Amino acid sequence: MKILLLYPQYPDTFWSFRKSLKFVSKESTSPPLGLLTVAALLPDGFEKKLIDMNVDKLTDKDLLWADYVFISAMITQKDSANKVIERCKKLEVKTVAGGPLFTSLHEEFPDVDHFVLNEGEATVPLFLEDLKTGSLKKIYTSDIKPDITKSPIPQWDLINMKKYSKMAIQFSRGCPYDCEFCDIVNLNGRIPRNKTPEQVINEIEALYQAGWYSSIHSSVFIVDDNFIGNKIKAKELLRALIDWRKRTKNRITFITEVSLNLADDDELLSLMRDAGFDTVFIGLETPSKEGLQECGKFQNKNRDQTLSVRKIQSYGMEVTGGFIVGFDSDDFSIFARQIEFIQKTGIVVAMVGLLQALPGTKLYERLKRENRLLVKGSSGNNTDLSTNFLPKMDPAILIDGYKNILSSVYSPENYYKRIKTFLEHYKPYHKEAFKLKDLNALIKSIWILGIFKENRKYYWEIFFTCLFKYPGSFSKAITMTVYYEHFRTIFAYA
Ligand code: SF4
Repeated sequence: MKILLLYPQYPDTFWSFRKSLKFVSKESTSPPLGLLTVAALLPDGFEKKLIDMNVDKLTDKDLLWADYVFISAMITQKDSANKVIERCKKLEVKTVAGGPLFTSLHEEFPDVDHFVLNEGEATVPLFLEDLKTGSLKKIYTSDIKPDITKSPIPQWDLINMKKYSKMAIQFSRGCPYDCEFCDIVNLNGRIPRNKTPEQVINEIEALYQAGWYSSIHSSVFIVDDNFIGNKIKAKELLRALIDWRKRTKNRITFITEVSLNLADDDELLSLMRDAGFDTVFIGLETPSKEGLQECGKFQNKNRDQTLSVRKIQSYGMEVTGGFIVGFDSDDFSIFARQIEFIQKTGIVVAMVGLLQALPGTKLYERLKRENRLLVKGSSGNNTDLSTNFLPKMDPAILIDGYKNILSSVYSPENYYKRIKTFLEHYKPYHKEAFKLKDLNALIKSIWILGIFKENRKYYWEIFFTCLFKYPGSFSKAITMTVYYEHFRTIFAYA
């Protein structure tokens, strides 16, 4: 049996960092972890190939080689997934689709032969059983939230690691919170499920055995819904990681996603810092108390969110953040308040999006009841100037105000001002191992940003401020200047 695992192309979005990747000679940020895990669930006797269309070209020959093409995608990859399905149909190659896009919207893809939905550990074995007996069904689905301590190590030998800037692993699935706009609870449940510390360390070691050795950050993205969803389990892992770092002298750093209540637990903050975490993404959403109440983000309410962010920064972790406009309770003042909020927190990588109603969320159901859903589904890209529902505010004013936030927070003045605010509060903890490849990236940044770009005066200001005042943060700050190349391009419409 020959299986082609296929990851469609994603558009140039906030998180693609496409323009910045050239500085580190990479083609994509991280590999398709879901497909690599599915590959490991398939029998050893199967021949497997993986094509990530973000780094590889897909030919008809590749498609014709396969008995089945397994496609996994997120909602943002919908257009590319549709094109691939059409190609397979023309070539009469059988398709099997899974992952978040198809789990939420499988009825929109009538040309797919089989769907293997929800979590692969639960549904791939059902598909394989029927494959053996030649009695395949159209849809495989399951309500079971599988025990991920039994998940296999992703099959890393299927990708060329050199093309990616980071590797990805997973420690937990699910989140105990229940924000109205979020589809995590529907996809992965409210009771967090965790891998064991040994399992995670084995996965990290497997990465090294497969030949991964990165430049710049040597970082691993722990792609959890909320890494601290179960704090007790998170602390167990962190203690094991600290021991492992001491034993192996490894200087790997980690990035993950957490909720803002991280700031309330000093022990957890120290453990994360000591275990090598240097960046966390947090959904802050809005400075408006009414907005937080409306979307059920209670962990952010009744606190000074800026102080919480600063506390996390003071533990050597950069905070990247998500912000949303378009809540029913938002009035015209929200645009100026968001700009002020983002600037004050010193969150340099600020993902500001328009509220979208993803299928399967409580928000989607509410808007459906209120007859406010528009025919056009969600693109999954909340920076593309579209909403898929009728907002309370006049849509034209909302879009204009949104564009105004983007043009303000991504103006060179404000972007570089945020880097300075960040440097004032960030206390770097991990000394980064400087390698030849890093020097190469630094020279490229000097050449491109420091000599040719019109904003070079800002670049040099940060360069020298860091060199003399914050030398421990030099690499991080220069990385932020490189990110600006990407943001500048994708928000050019604002
Ligand atoms: S805290 Fe984050 S992951 Fe959890 S429900 Fe809210 S938005 Fe989703």
